Amino acid sequence: MTDRYCVFGNPIAHSKSPRIHALFARQTGQDLSYEAILAPLDGFADSVRDFAAAGGRGANVTVPFKEEAFRLADSLTPRAQAAGAVNTLTFINGRILGDNTDGAGLVRDIAHNLGAAIAGRRSLILGAGGAARGVILPLLDERPATIFVANRTAGKAVGLAAAFNIEGGGFESLAERQFELVINATSAGLSDAALPLPAGVFAAGCLAYEMLYGRETPFMAQARAAGAAVADGLGMLVEQAAEAFSVWRGVRPDTAPVLAELRRG
Ligand code: NDP
Repeated sequence: MTDRYCVFGNPIAHSKSPRIHALFARQTGQDLSYEAILAPLDGFADSVRDFAAAGGRGANVTVPFKEEAFRLADSLTPRAQAAGAVNTLTFINGRILGDNTDGAGLVRDIAHNLGAAIAGRRSLILGAGGAARGVILPLLDERPATIFVANRTAGKAVGLAAAFNIEGGGFESLAERQFELVINATSAGLSDAALPLPAGVFAAGCLAYEMLYGRETPFMAQARAAGAAVADGLGMLVEQAAEAFSVWRGVRPDTAPVLAELRRG
């Protein structure tokens, strides 16, 4: 019987996840289906339980339900615990296991697809929301020289940094600081808003990583103007999906042809 998976979100119509997982399934010969489900804003838990009761094997979770999925899960992996958010659910014997593959996806995209080192790099994370929180521990595991968290609301950066025993502050604290890896985990690009970054923040040889994809954001333009190499978040999207796929199926798909196909449109 075909195993059923899905992604829950709101909105969800434009999700690329069904296409990505269909490509993974075809490539690896796995018999599964993967659909996008619009969960009502006040009905996420019911949607998950209905899907599991109907024989669903697992699900991805996207905006705005990742924190609710964290609370809903009966047990959590250590990386989901550290992230405070869940993007991957597995249904086993009536229980819900919560995992978070976003950070692993980012690390794999940087280190494997882009071929950039994380070890030894002074690293900056912009933003202190769920995406920022989810990537700190997997990045720390790669042994960067430092990680600094900067956010518009400085207090949130300070609190988040303290939870991981690293430094954080407002954007004004970036004056005089330089980084070889700058990751934009804010949603500022969605509204074409520029971040108040000093040009000197991008050190020589810097990789500037924008977690958004599908558009050239002001952050990407700022980084290019400062001479940094620039990447968008499409690779992270495909890699977090591959990580979820291998959690569910025990097979790791080859992401390169899938990423190439998505880039073709
Ligand atoms: P949250 O809503 O939890 O956090 C948003 C963050 O962006 C906050 O730190 C907020 O700052 C900051 N921000 C928003 N607008 C501005 C602005 N105009 N100027 C400066 N800072 C701003 O969102 P998430 O953390 O869940 O997601 C962040 C982004 O990452 C999203 O755009 C999402 O699409 C992307 N993402 C991509 C993934 C991928 O696979 N490629 C995976 C996960 C996320 P403040 O605290 O001051 O409000």
